[in-house]
Amino acid sequence: MDNEFSLLIIDDEPHVSDAIRIFAGEMGYKVWEAGSYEGLSELYDQADPTIIILDPSMPKYDGMEFLRELAKRKCQAQIFLSSGQARRVTLTARRLGLDLGLNMANSLPKTATNNVLESCLATIANKNFNMTAKFLSEAIKHEKLVVYYQPKVALTGDNPYSVTGAEALVRLNHPVLGLLSPDLFIGLAEENDLIGQLTNLVLKETTKQIKKWGEQGIVLPISVNISPLMLTDLFLPDKIAAIIEAAEVDPSMIVLEVTEKATMVDAGKAMDILKRIRLKNISVSLDDFGAGYSSIVELYRMPLNELKLDGALIRDMEHNEDAFIVVRGILAMARELGIPVCAEGVETLKTAEMLRRLKCQTGQGYYFSKPLPVCDFSKFVVGR
Ligand code: C2E
Ligand code: MG
Ligand code: MG
Repeated sequence: MDNEFSLLIIDDEPHVSDAIRIFAGEMGYKVWEAGSYEGLSELYDQADPTIIILDPSMPKYDGMEFLRELAKRKCQAQIFLSSGQARRVTLTARRLGLDLGLNMANSLPKTATNNVLESCLATIANKNFNMTAKFLSEAIKHEKLVVYYQPKVALTGDNPYSVTGAEALVRLNHPVLGLLSPDLFIGLAEENDLIGQLTNLVLKETTKQIKKWGEQGIVLPISVNISPLMLTDLFLPDKIAAIIEAAEVDPSMIVLEVTEKATMVDAGKAMDILKRIRLKNISVSLDDFGAGYSSIVELYRMPLNELKLDGALIRDMEHNEDAFIVVRGILAMARELGIPVCAEGVETLKTAEMLRRLKCQTGQGYYFSKPLPVCDFSKFVVGR
């Protein structure tokens, strides 16, 4: 059965089994556990494991004997040895396993529980990782979200390419797979009523960081993405203002990025919310303009401080004359309306120079910098 991954843990220390069980379970494994030798052979038959995690030196239990038993049964599972005992015990057991023709993975000390987890689950996890709402909810609860900051740079004025701000972009720190892209979980958060909690966390983290940067002399407005679904909550402006105030940050340091999808749910309510956000001195930016069905009329309907041109449109303009004309047209209109524009997805010098000639105020993209963790962002700003 191809899609049935089964994991057998033989370990007498609950914290080790617990950690492994939770993560393996989230990755779609069926998990079997044994804390003693009793009934192990029957359990092995039932489990038919693809992976075995074995502590070879549990009290009153002979792990070596079990390895011999596995060899007799021509076990194909990948076997990880996890031992709190002297490394020698693990090494001996591993050598025996290899001599018996078993599929022995590298053994690791149990103190490095995370390493055991990483090495034994990563390969298979990659094959069938499926983010679940439960996993996401736990990750939010345990604050496993990490905020990266992508610099925005000036394209006009006396100081071209100087940093003018940044966009806060969330990532989820997965214990096995590392940092996961928001594309994997924002939709899931929206579907499962978790987006409010997620956004609160990002806002709290970002405002705390703005405060810290301020103390280091780095004073830059930071943009935070707001899901369209949140623009139905009439208390949103007060909730956001409260978070900003608690961090002792000036509201003008925060830009909320919304897409025009926000106005499709309940336009009247969304406009009302946006206007009240503006009255609190928090800025509003229209994100992803030029993707999907962008409607030009939103430019005068919405109370905007900034317009962000979608990355796909910007990437096209270098090679596609029509895309260039569209960008030029939007920039001309935005200029007359007095709305500064930020071009997203600037990947080449050529695009940056084209945008400069068109007097687009700011740019964001891999050509300047990828999204960066906090310390790298500070270095980037100071180094300019
Ligand atoms: P977005 O708000 O339009 O953010 C810009 C995305 O473009 C980011 O992807 C960024 O890493 C990527 N990007 C920037 N420059 C370039 C470039 O030169 N080339 C290419 N190919 N990509 C570039 P990321 O970080 O994966 O975020 C994806 C989307 O997830 C964001 O799109 C935003 O809609 C959403 N998102 C991220 N963080 C949050 C959050 O805290 N809350 C909510 N609600 N959504 C978020
Ligand atoms: Mg954005
Ligand atoms: Mg965008």
